Amino acid sequence: MASDSEDDDPPASPLSSLEHASAHEDDARLPESISTVWEHPLIELVTVPPSEGQLNSTMFWKCLAPGCQKKFNGKNATKALAHGSQDQPYCSEQHAKPCKGIASPAAIDLFRALLANKLRKKAGYKRGSILVAAAISGAQSRVADAKKLTLTSGASTVSSAEGSVAHRQLDVASAFDKATIEGCNSADLDAAIAQMVYCKALPFSFGECPYFQRVLDVARSAPRGYKAPKRNILAGDWHDLSYKTELDRGFEELMVDAGVFGVGFFGDAATIHKCPLVNMFASSFNVPAMLVDIVDCTDRLREGEKKDGTFISNLFLPLIDSLDVMKNLTDIVFFDGGSNFQLAGRLMQVHYPRITVVHGLEHVCRLRLRTLQRLM
Ligand SMILES: [Zn+2]
Repeated sequence: MASDSEDDDPPASPLSSLEHASAHEDDARLPESISTVWEHPLIELVTVPPSEGQLNSTMFWKCLAPGCQKKFNGKNATKALAHGSQDQPYCSEQHAKPCKGIASPAAIDLFRALLANKLRKKAGYKRGSILVAAAISGAQSRVADAKKLTLTSGASTVSSAEGSVAHRQLDVASAFDKATIEGCNSADLDAAIAQMVYCKALPFSFGECPYFQRVLDVARSAPRGYKAPKRNILAGDWHDLSYKTELDRGFEELMVDAGVFGVGFFGDAATIHKCPLVNMFASSFNVPAMLVDIVDCTDRLREGEKKDGTFISNLFLPLIDSLDVMKNLTDIVFFDGGSNFQLAGRLMQVHYPRITVVHGLEHVCRLRLRTLQRLM
């Protein structure tokens, strides 16, 4: 169904000879080419500012072709292109109405050139992804075959290359078609993992990663035709949910045996690419280092304030309050020798008397050694 709704405009009136003449005069103003449909002189995109009681502005686009002048809600470049190009198959595919106005052949050609370019690119992407998939599949099959050759050459029964290929459960064509890893034999899967580790510069221990093992386990029961989520899906809700879940799990692990061994906190300030940041870590017997938060202090510095001791302690105290309600588990904080951080540590001692504030001497040493290195 079309997502755009078309306004109830009056039917197009018969064109006067004056309108015909102006349509052809407009040809002189047509650009040679356009990269989006919104650059076409016959399409106008209008943003309506929010009225009272509304939060967001709205948009509509209008066809300026003489005799059409139709308005469509929203901002849909595909539909606008279909409408302007008057390409019937593309209009049907996109559920768009072709323009019935009188546009000059040059203006329609401009739409059609953009449409042809768009379709060419789409076909190119499709061809490219098929080629990449075929190339990866072919390369993995060769790796798997080579591995099998070494395995079978050691065996007494089959020693020829032909024999090893015959040993494969799937040929290249059927391997390309398979939608899940269920049909792979182990050499195929080993080859796929080895190539992924090589091509994506992953650590050699990647195969032992429990998260990857879990992917393999879940993939065994994945529905046929399953496709991994794309970047915009992974970067949205899935990412937020994973972050929250992992943080909660990290806190649970952090507090295991905290009554016996205590819990500590550490952090530092750093300006990275002109962004003033403070990192906050927690540590316990079971968790050597857990990144709890990275605080962006830009707003504070913009107000003319500093990352002083009070500010730093106020970052850490709510965190410690939430984990150590009885104030008897937190026994150490590590900060560098900066006066603001040492002051923050002493302020935290007021609330948590068991805290010892430690100078992170290795940080100072590293800074000094780096200075020495520069001098040498
Ligand atoms: Zn139109």
